[in-house]
Amino acid sequence: MNNQKTEIIFISDLHLAIEKKEITRRFLDFLQTRACSAQAIYILGDLFDTWIGDDDTTPPINRIKSSLKQLTESGTRVFFLHGNRDFLIADKFCNETGIEAIDEYTVIDLNNTSTLLTHGDLLCTDDTAYQAFRKKSRTHEWQQNVLSKPLLLRLIAARWYRFRSYFHKRKKSNDIMDVNQETVEAVMRNYGCHQLIHGHTHRPATHHFRLDKKPAARHVLAEWKKQEAELLCWNPESSFQRIKI
Ligand code: MN
Repeated sequence: MNNQKTEIIFISDLHLAIEKKEITRRFLDFLQTRACSAQAIYILGDLFDTWIGDDDTTPPINRIKSSLKQLTESGTRVFFLHGNRDFLIADKFCNETGIEAIDEYTVIDLNNTSTLLTHGDLLCTDDTAYQAFRKKSRTHEWQQNVLSKPLLLRLIAARWYRFRSYFHKRKKSNDIMDVNQETVEAVMRNYGCHQLIHGHTHRPATHHFRLDKKPAARHVLAEWKKQEAELLCWNPESSFQRIKI
């Protein structure tokens, strides 16, 4: 019998929130089933719809935490790359769950193919207003200022921002919400990768193109929905497969 765990699973954009009970249930179920037999899980951002600080315990946060802890203790490594919604996830959350935070651009090796991982928001360079906010919100001062506010105030503010962002998104043109191909190519060249995996745009697809005369691929992960979710599974034999759960 072959006990070797070889599967690596990539997911993103679950946008877990108190009112999304089906998605929470699907994720908990995933953590207790397929995830257990995987070698590693990469969560490429926006696991939560908002994150206002590691001191928040609003449901379903505690259930998610204990389920992640159970998984990491069983031997599956779980890596987390921050999204634009949950970029405030910090050391306390990682310590409590055993997940490992990785950089906004991380290169991993998949059977001798260097593969670049990122959330995807950094690639949407046509949205200059968002890029400016992103830059500001990743500074120590900005984060300290937010995290020093009482939890209740942060909860109320987060509600308001979620409401506002829903309308903002609807106003923005479809094009600026997608990645910029020149940025994609520049970043891949910079990291020496011909394979890229990201989420964020909620436009699941695999794009094949040529980068410096060599074949290149960009795998876009799917957003989790009430009715279904999709995993991007990789193993050395069959390479990438999209699996609906
Ligand atoms: Mn996102």
